[in-house]
Amino acid sequence: MECPICGSDNITVLKSKETSAKSKHINDYLLRCNECEHVFKDRVTQKNPISCRLIVSENENSKKTSINLYPDEVLKCGEVLLADDGQVKVNSIETREGRRDSALVSDIKTIWATSLEIPARIGLSIDFGGKVKSYKLDLNRDFEINTNDIIRIEDYTLKVHIIKTGSKKLSTGSARADVIKRVYTKPIDLKTYDYNLTDNIVQINFKDDYY
Ligand SMILES: [Zn+2]
Repeated sequence: MECPICGSDNITVLKSKETSAKSKHINDYLLRCNECEHVFKDRVTQKNPISCRLIVSENENSKKTSINLYPDEVLKCGEVLLADDGQVKVNSIETREGRRDSALVSDIKTIWATSLEIPARIGLSIDFGGKVKSYKLDLNRDFEINTNDIIRIEDYTLKVHIIKTGSKKLSTGSARADVIKRVYTKPIDLKTYDYNLTDNIVQINFKDDYY
């Protein structure tokens, strides 16, 4: 809001009043400019929120729900929304014209999102020189794994070689569990380790080849 006389945005709200009409929300303000002391009225009108279809994935499961959003706001992929069951991150937005990276809320058909209230599920592979043992692990979303970390799992001590995230393969550096897809490790002959992830195992697979 700006002063209509001097154009300053250094404004004090003297009074405000909210009115809810059928499809909109009206805020009336009595304002004073701190530069020229002019007192004036202003009105901000916002359309009432509308219900959008929301599909939240929690690992293998997905749940249909809905969320109320303002129709004249723009929603972008990557944004975090507060849904009924907690925070979700928007992965994909479907409009009548197809999938979009961002869209006006009133154009949205369905929002696809991932729950941020559940642990991150990552894969971990142990390369036994041809045979691969593979795990699914649930980790805190902000748990950080570095290349060269020494991990204990069951009776194995492992060294991290490669961390694969959604967008790249890291042979040096680190990543948070919520972006990691899979960690590639090799067994090493050590008794000490940085951390033990045995309690985080949710699934184990043995395979005779790489994948
Ligand atoms: Zn002014």
